[in-house]
Amino acid sequence: MAKQLEEYLRTALASIGDAVISTDAEGRIVFVNKVALSVLRAAEDDIRGKHVDEIFRIQNELTRSRVESPLAKVLLEGATVGLANHTVLIAHDGAEVPIDNSVAPIRGEDGVVQGAVLVFRDITARRKAELTQRLLAAIVEFSDDAIISKDINGIVTSWNKGAERIFGYTAEEMIGKPIVIIAAPDRVDEMPRILDRIKRGERLEHYETVRQAKGGRLVDISLTVSPIHDEQGKVIGASKIARDITEQLRSRSELAEERERLRVTFNSIGDGIITTDNLGRVACLNPVAEQLTGWQNSEAVGRPLEEVFKIINEDSRQTVENPATKVLREGIIVGLANHTLLITKDGHERSIDDSGAPIRVGSDEILGVVLVFRDVTKRRADEKERQSRAVELRRANEDLNQFAYAAAHDLREPLRNVVNFSQLLLRQLGADTRDDTRTSLKFIVEGALRMDMLLNDLLAYSQIGGLEKSPALVDTNDALRRALDSLKIAITEADAVVTSDDLPAVLANDGQMVQVFQNLVSNAIKYRSQAAPRVHIRARKDDYEWIFSVRDNGMGIRPEYQTLIFQLFKRLHGREIPGTGLGLAICTKIIERHGGRFWVSSQQGEGSEFFFSLPLQNE
Ligand code: ADP
Repeated sequence: MAKQLEEYLRTALASIGDAVISTDAEGRIVFVNKVALSVLRAAEDDIRGKHVDEIFRIQNELTRSRVESPLAKVLLEGATVGLANHTVLIAHDGAEVPIDNSVAPIRGEDGVVQGAVLVFRDITARRKAELTQRLLAAIVEFSDDAIISKDINGIVTSWNKGAERIFGYTAEEMIGKPIVIIAAPDRVDEMPRILDRIKRGERLEHYETVRQAKGGRLVDISLTVSPIHDEQGKVIGASKIARDITEQLRSRSELAEERERLRVTFNSIGDGIITTDNLGRVACLNPVAEQLTGWQNSEAVGRPLEEVFKIINEDSRQTVENPATKVLREGIIVGLANHTLLITKDGHERSIDDSGAPIRVGSDEILGVVLVFRDVTKRRADEKERQSRAVELRRANEDLNQFAYAAAHDLREPLRNVVNFSQLLLRQLGADTRDDTRTSLKFIVEGALRMDMLLNDLLAYSQIGGLEKSPALVDTNDALRRALDSLKIAITEADAVVTSDDLPAVLANDGQMVQVFQNLVSNAIKYRSQAAPRVHIRARKDDYEWIFSVRDNGMGIRPEYQTLIFQLFKRLHGREIPGTGLGLAICTKIIERHGGRFWVSSQQGEGSEFFFSLPLQNE
């Protein structure tokens, strides 16, 4: 029976889950179970008969100093001793194994200590689990997200720092309280609904909703809720991770707004816009581009640009190089040549004007091309019309000139007859002829002579064509001298003094320059004051023109007449000073034909200064 019992106990000790070593009263090993061998990493032969202190070597995990075996104390005092924390066993192969143990004396029936029994276990796995748990606890604690657990009734069981930060309540305020405290007022039934799903074992991921923080502030959150199961797999609560997405939502909505603004801008631009990718394939068309090309954005996207934006030269009708190709090749902004026609999808032609520019990221990489173009069909038509009107106008002007010339020329001949025969008649009149008949005839002669003078000036005016004779370099000193020659008699009669500075050489029509000087000097003498006429001619150089002037000390011109006098037939005087009112009109026409301007500066009674300009490129 005793034998049987011993066998039974031995088997029991051998099968125990912990390591067991028993010793005799001296501490020599009498029994080791399998678990002990495996923890010690030793075979039974390595151990049998050895003193336990040889085998069971332990040290403090932290200080690494040898720890005294508790065995001696147990054997001596008969007390049960437990090991301190952080004890590691140095196994047979030198490995360190964290253990947990107790040593108890074995007493005989007489109470005498017969030996000791060491019970210990390898706690490596437990340590790892503890470590993992600490790590997880730290993660939960320091997470930016709120990590909360609650039981099946929605009572908060844990509440981390993230939750405190996001919702404003501390763990003390929330643990043991219902989670609905943080429900947003308009979402009170949301939480029970979520709990129902959790009870069914479902999980909720990245669910965006709103909660109310302490003080009533609403917080946008993204929620992930998972069920917590007990060992039997029954749902006993829920863990939830809530992330504050207020910022994220704000930037998301800002981004959406920005995108919308760009879309609206793109769609409302009055020009056609097509963008392409970096291979020159259409990325999008705005509504104006859709209308101009006849292509819908949806059907055009992805096609090569030249298919959607087909362009030819208006005159040669050859295909023009697609601007996108050039932009992608050269990375620069290009404009279309003039006279480009866009062929629409249904074959119509539109005159367009456009430019293409690269779309870049940073300074180098070209993402694609943006093409901006507009329909200039109407502008081109207007231009053409303007051009043809100008041609018509020029023709009409020439016709009118020719008419004036012909009229003036042809009218002079019968007029000469009127003058000649009236003068003849006057000479043939007998002495008995009445005075008033004579006077009438004199008026006829005078009128006819005046008309002849008018026709003569009209003829001169109509003969100022364009610069038919190509302008040559004219020494204006010489032109002035010739003008004064032909005015010699008038100058002498009026006792006038005409002086001039040194004048420049200009590119002009020689004869016309003489005529301008002649008219101006003649007027300066004709429209004299009481004083003897003094006339001075000079020229100065401006940035882009020569400005000539003819200044006199004559009667001057009132300001209100200073533009009028340049018009045809406009005079400020009657017959007392002969003239046709055409001189200044002729001068103006000549100077304008040379690209210059004509004007006067005068004070009544203080003389006048007539100015005309000639562009420098005419030199
Ligand atoms: P005409 O001398 O044949 O009348 P113009 O066209 O040369 O015609 O001159 C137009 C008018 O301008 C003249 O009738 C005169 O009243 C005024 N005028 C021209 N030159 C002068 C001048 N130097 N001083 C004052 N008045 C002038």
